[in-house]
Amino acid sequence: MDAHRRFIARTIVAALRTVLVPALLLAACPAGGGGADLGDAGRGAHGSLTITTYGTGNEGHLITFPDLTTMSIDCANGDITTVSHFHSDHCGSSCESSAQHHRNNTRPGDILYDKDGVIVQCVAANSKVIGEEAVYLSCEDTSDENRESMALLITYGGFDYLTAGDLTTRREEWMGDALRALGVNVDVLKVSHHGSRSSSSAEYLQAIRPEYAVVCGSASSPHLETLDNLKYAEVKTIYYARDYENGEGYPVHRANGDITITTDGYTYSFSGRDFRHDSFHVDDSVGSPTPTPMPGPTPVPDKLVQVTTNGTDLAAGNTLVVKAAVMPILKWKFDAYAVLLGPAGVYSIRFGNSLVPGVEPIARKVFLFGEYDGTLLQMKVPPGVAGRYRVILGLADEGARVTGVGSAFELDEQYLTVTD
Ligand SMILES: [Zn+2]
Repeated sequence: MDAHRRFIARTIVAALRTVLVPALLLAACPAGGGGADLGDAGRGAHGSLTITTYGTGNEGHLITFPDLTTMSIDCANGDITTVSHFHSDHCGSSCESSAQHHRNNTRPGDILYDKDGVIVQCVAANSKVIGEEAVYLSCEDTSDENRESMALLITYGGFDYLTAGDLTTRREEWMGDALRALGVNVDVLKVSHHGSRSSSSAEYLQAIRPEYAVVCGSASSPHLETLDNLKYAEVKTIYYARDYENGEGYPVHRANGDITITTDGYTYSFSGRDFRHDSFHVDDSVGSPTPTPMPGPTPVPDKLVQVTTNGTDLAAGNTLVVKAAVMPILKWKFDAYAVLLGPAGVYSIRFGNSLVPGVEPIARKVFLFGEYDGTLLQMKVPPGVAGRYRVILGLADEGARVTGVGSAFELDEQYLTVTD
């Protein structure tokens, strides 16, 4: 076990053990230390970088660099060829892919292209992530080819595009932890495995914080769980390269064809057959893992729901108390959610003073005749979890699919900062 793997493992253990979500990786790794962010050095001066995602059943991407050299990922013909993994829908149908770079000859950390300010770097391959030692895995040695997928991070100035083939949840989460430790803040994410629920966990998305997402390849529709997680991660638009079924109620744009992202390192745009969306500013803030808090909610006298904490600034060793007040709601039965969003993910409060990862109701099928006023959580803040937190109490219709704060018919939120 090398140092980086020990580091990741320790973090996972800490996440399970501790109550608040750990920001250990951030605390231990100086922001921007990975060379993934070029700052101003690479921007603009050299022209445009484009990344085209094909609207075909097989997954394919073509990158055109500022000097017009091209690189393909999976099913495309570039001057430089890469294949994420050895599945036929990624044009890697044999272990000995003819692509110049594939999961078995490229190690995490390898730089595949570095010119005119553009860097293409392998950040995962063969179940290893950047910072770990590479391994060789033949097709016969793996029970799941998807999870061995090679992931590439394409960086130009402040712009970051992440694509990881069909990489699966656990590997994605390891990679997300590593990328966050390196200060990478993803602008556009190619959603892994065509939107399957076996990828794109809420924890992973919280780590890489994509602004926009692209779903491509495969005839089957992205799973609702994936769309929920993307929406919950506040992805602004999910671009569909194909006419998938699911998408109602989610921030989906149906491009139904090739999608081209164009960037000069400062701004970027999306365009396709009959649309053009611009200009989005790159999100290159480093080492700020939580959304910038908005001004606290204005107290409304007739507010039906109120969540309070015993302070907005807490230090390790202090006790955090989360209280809720809910006025009688006689109209219908509802589910109640008490969620804590922090540097490493989304956690739900459970009665009994514990937290579970993900979004789970604290109470189901509640019918409230009288006022509720009670303590939801009371626990000691452990060390190593510094950061900004957002506590949200939301009420949603009974059995409703909760995809974010928009799912609640009543909600209140409270911000707090934890220092070590
Ligand atoms: Zn695939």
